[in-house]
Amino acid sequence: MKVAQFTFNAFQENTYILYDNSLECVVLDPGCNNDEERETLVKFIEDNNLKPTKLVNTHCHIDHVLGNKFIAEKYDLQLEAHEGEAQVLGTCETVSNMYGIPYEGSPSIGKFIKEDTDYTFGESVLKTIFTPGHSPASLCFYCEADKILIAGDALFQGSIGRTDLPGGNYDLLIKNIKEKLLVLPEDVTVYSGHGPSTTIGREKMSNPFLT
Ligand SMILES: [Zn+2]
Repeated sequence: MKVAQFTFNAFQENTYILYDNSLECVVLDPGCNNDEERETLVKFIEDNNLKPTKLVNTHCHIDHVLGNKFIAEKYDLQLEAHEGEAQVLGTCETVSNMYGIPYEGSPSIGKFIKEDTDYTFGESVLKTIFTPGHSPASLCFYCEADKILIAGDALFQGSIGRTDLPGGNYDLLIKNIKEKLLVLPEDVTVYSGHGPSTTIGREKMSNPFLT
């Protein structure tokens, strides 16, 4: 599985396209929020002859869902996320008004992704890891074959997700990171919802929240 990273919107959120030799792809946490960002994403998909077959949110905070409607309509896809994020998605309208950022709305979650299951597209298999704490039902996606972790906003290079938003829980987040993410092989590359990628080994060694 390959990963393409884009950084979009006022929150500098990372949007990912996951793809493989089948040329199927997953659009994960599309944060594109203006024409230029939407075109960047579409151009990558077209330049690589990819076929989007899934639209996924790791969690439904506003910065991760800004492009949901665009992707869902352009590629005729249902939104997929954990059931426990539906309520968060429902607050996005209010939150966008609070921040004063344009938000065209999002389809509701059409397909629920369960934790501890194999999530597949093309030739790729991702294990879903339930890591609430930043958001009430955040999911991470782990590709064991290629040692790639899509971490959402649970774990960042040198930091962790904030836990002061509704449904956040600091102790729970730390516990989930330590028990479910840091147990992965040290050479797993971690792609986070914000900032540069890192590795499990690096965070185990030097993340001040985890040492
Ligand atoms: Zn978030």
